[in-house]
Amino acid sequence: MSIPVVTNIELSSLAKLASGKVRDLYNVDDKTLLFVTTDRISAYDVIMANGVPLKGAVLTNISAHWFKVLQERIPDLKTHFITLDPPANLGDADKELVRGRSMQVRKLKVFPVEAIVRGYITGSAWNEYKKSGTVHGLAVPAGLQQCSPFPEPIYTPSTKAELGQHDENITPEQAAKIVGEKYAARIEALALKVYKAGAAYAAERGIIIADTKFEFGLDEETDEIVLIDEVLTPDSSRFWPADEYEVGRDQDSFDKQFLRNWLTKEGFKGKDGVEMPADIAQSTSERYLDAFKRLTGKTLQEALQG
Ligand code: ATP
Ligand code: MG
Repeated sequence: MSIPVVTNIELSSLAKLASGKVRDLYNVDDKTLLFVTTDRISAYDVIMANGVPLKGAVLTNISAHWFKVLQERIPDLKTHFITLDPPANLGDADKELVRGRSMQVRKLKVFPVEAIVRGYITGSAWNEYKKSGTVHGLAVPAGLQQCSPFPEPIYTPSTKAELGQHDENITPEQAAKIVGEKYAARIEALALKVYKAGAAYAAERGIIIADTKFEFGLDEETDEIVLIDEVLTPDSSRFWPADEYEVGRDQDSFDKQFLRNWLTKEGFKGKDGVEMPADIAQSTSERYLDAFKRLTGKTLQEALQG
């Protein structure tokens, strides 16, 4: 199956409901969305002008793989995943446009927090810890080194900012005010449970999931909390190759390191609409495909052929 590189998709047979940095959401019916992942890539909070070959297909199929694995490992887990098959009301031309990069999901009310779980201290958590000894305002043990594991994974939510705004790290108490006391503890417990199951699975495959961001929705009919969005992908998580891991220094991120290095070297860090050279887009694509293979045990082509 050959999948073109696309950064913008306009379907004619379904109405577009929303568009994020990477995905477009289309209306299938009252209860169902078509969740379409483009090949857009963002780094340092801005979106590149051109796309990364096969990125949308990798992210869609990694998430689908996780929904299946997590469901097996956590039998009472509810997820938004319905199927990778296109909906019956999608036109033939549109089917071509979303092939390999879309899934049908349940349309749910989204809790407006990013449910971040951290197993290791890095990124903004490491920066805060160096200044104040805390992480998202939480007390954590003294004496941690860069990229050390926490004694136990911790729930460190952030706000879910509108497009173009920055998410802000908050304490679990602040998150509880946003999602409501009724749901806060359940969201936290579920986020930790899914992270632990995912991290254990990835560890069996030589990948450390240093941290990740989940989103949850509410099934208003049953009052159940549902795992939504993308799950444990290289975009929503920091994946580190376990064999190169060393405490006390920064780790190479699996996927965006080439792009970030190039942006920094060219002085393009933080600038909108930058076009990546073809070799940067290509090496980034290879990293995404490599993550897919390591996690799922199949090449993307094998997965797409069913
Ligand atoms: P964020 O950083 O919050 O993920 P984004 O710009 O990355 O924003 P995308 O990943 O491009 O967003 O788009 C996905 C959007 O779809 C997110 O706003 C997410 O909250 C929303 N979403 C995910 N699953 C569902 C669902 N089942 N029902 C409704 N909305 C959903
Ligand atoms: Mg997202």
